[in-house]
Amino acid sequence: MRKNQCRICNIKTNHEVVHEEKIHGSEEDGSFQWKDTYSIIRCKGCDNLSFLNIYGNTDMYYINDSDEQNFTLQNRNFLNFYKLGKKLFT
Ligand SMILES: [Zn+2]
Repeated sequence: MRKNQCRICNIKTNHEVVHEEKIHGSEEDGSFQWKDTYSIIRCKGCDNLSFLNIYGNTDMYYINDSDEQNFTLQNRNFLNFYKLGKKLFT
């Protein structure tokens, strides 16, 4: 279960993953790696379906103040389907 912003509820709500595809790859020498996750998620509050894309690669690592390696993920919730079937691009 993950919390995502729901455009209908207008707050972060619990979402269930209806379907998920993960693709990943790297340069041949392994110096650059990337991971792309595409999910169809459903709000547990209003049953609205959304499309979520999370992308990350090795250039997005950063070291925080405690010397820990962190990973910034790009989290795009860019397509929402309303119950009526209308599409909304953000
Ligand atoms: Zn909702």
